[in-house]
Amino acid sequence: MTSSPSTPHHHTDRLLQNVVAGGYCIGCGVCAARENSSLRIVLDNDGKLQACAKKIHSGDTVNVCAICPFSGESPDETVLGGNLSSYNTEYNHYIGYYQNLYAGHVERNSERINSASGGLVTWLLVTLLQKGMIDGVVHVRPCKPTASNPLVLQYRISRTEEEIRSGAGSHYYPIEMSSVLKEIRENEGRYAVVGIPKFITAVRLLMKEEPIFKQRIAYCIGIIAGHMKSKHFADSIAWQKGIPPESVEEIRFRKKKPDRTARNSYVYIKGNSDNGVKEELIYSKNQFGRNNWGLKFFEYEAAEFSDDLMAETADISFGDAWLPRYVHNWRGTNIVIVRHHTLNTLLRKAARDKKIWLEDMNTKDMIESQRSGLRHMREGSAIRAEQKQQDGLWHPPLRMFHNNSTNPYFKNIIQERTRIATESFPAFNKAIQEKDFTVYTTIMKPLIRGYYRQRPLWYRALSWIQRHVPYL
Ligand SMILES: Cc1cc2nc3c(=O)[nH]c(=O)nc-3n(C[C@H](O)[C@H](O)[C@H](O)COP(=O)(O)OP(=O)(O)OC[C@H]3O[C@@H](n4cnc5c(N)ncnc54)[C@H](O)[C@@H]3O)c2cc1C
Ligand code: SF4
Repeated sequence: MTSSPSTPHHHTDRLLQNVVAGGYCIGCGVCAARENSSLRIVLDNDGKLQACAKKIHSGDTVNVCAICPFSGESPDETVLGGNLSSYNTEYNHYIGYYQNLYAGHVERNSERINSASGGLVTWLLVTLLQKGMIDGVVHVRPCKPTASNPLVLQYRISRTEEEIRSGAGSHYYPIEMSSVLKEIRENEGRYAVVGIPKFITAVRLLMKEEPIFKQRIAYCIGIIAGHMKSKHFADSIAWQKGIPPESVEEIRFRKKKPDRTARNSYVYIKGNSDNGVKEELIYSKNQFGRNNWGLKFFEYEAAEFSDDLMAETADISFGDAWLPRYVHNWRGTNIVIVRHHTLNTLLRKAARDKKIWLEDMNTKDMIESQRSGLRHMREGSAIRAEQKQQDGLWHPPLRMFHNNSTNPYFKNIIQERTRIATESFPAFNKAIQEKDFTVYTTIMKPLIRGYYRQRPLWYRALSWIQRHVPYL
């Protein structure tokens, strides 16, 4: 890692210079929630939530670098994960410390279909509330956009079963935790916090620094995640269907229909178009750019400098069972990594009572189910870091797992992905300025073609078939 040319003495200035100005702020909001913090979170022109200095502040009173997972001044996931529980006797460098690994889903069909994957996150949150084990859930729910806040999803505290269920789904959207964390500080109770990996790491770091959060946060529920998208991602999907960015009212990813596999879901959008209110269900793979995930449109650069896919510091992590024996079931199946004894007991009892279906999983299958995400994150981060070093730029420290034998073909893929991620922001901003979506597509098309050209012919043929044959 190359250090900054000048390293400010004050914690806040250092965080702003290295992490925020460097492009590595994931916008989690934890630094802004720290007591006496001089930081706040704003939505920038690229549709990303980012930390920035408050207009009037009381100076550098707290060490915000100690709670930012990108600062290089806080313990990493291996250290934090190692201190979670003495029951976590297993360790794998992709999975972190753990107790048990499962595949599973909730048994009630309507609940499973309404969720992003197998529905176990919503089931667990509702069960914890019903059993009186928590008073509230900190997670992401839809909200109405306003003139001062154009976002359609945000972190909220749910205190009823109905509120919890309204948050079901995977929200590929900028969200931040500063106000919900302040609400926890002000309101006694026991809470479960749901978050993607670096968000959970930041919460763990906050729990170390401010004991009140350690007392009140009973469970950290991790969402296995290889992405963090700016608002432009959702807006670009809506705009290609005639709903301009300022008119988007609702977006729901991962909507399921029996005519596709679990991997090939739909996106629901609602908003105002030239022809009045429009609602549409779009097949994900028919979006502009088709295989959208691999292409990395509107990706936060911070997410590209993270090496924790599995939410290694969570008490329990949930993801998708991307394995042939599960993906053909369109209703969705979770993978589960358990790191908390009480939660393990709860899951096993529910499986015996036939409320959920659970199957033991081995390490090899768990890793295989996340193969491409892990490769992009681990091997990819090393390639991206090498580039930063060559350019003489600082980057957040990464844990050292990989051997350095990256094949040149994969290096090209990573470089093309970075180019697409970087160029997608100015291209979309230009389209907004000119009020014309085709400005964006015209700029991006050659880059997408360049990316696909890196792929072998057999792969391109398979992708074409997958787009046109529903059950593949
Ligand atoms: C940004 C993102 C990237 C992902 N990448 C991967 C991946 O690479 N591999 C993989 O296997 N799975 C990935 N997932 C996870 C997967 O899509 C499911 O969210 C997970 O399996 C849980 O499914 P479920 O049906 O049990 O959850 P549900 O029952 O649908 O409940 C999901 C819960 O998570 C909360 N939630 C949703 N999005 C967010 C968010 N962004 N931040 C905080 N809370 C949120 C919701 O409010 C809800 O309470 C990703 C999810 C997200 C949000
Ligand atoms: S990543 Fe989170 S903790 Fe770090 S600067 Fe950004 S908002 Fe603050």
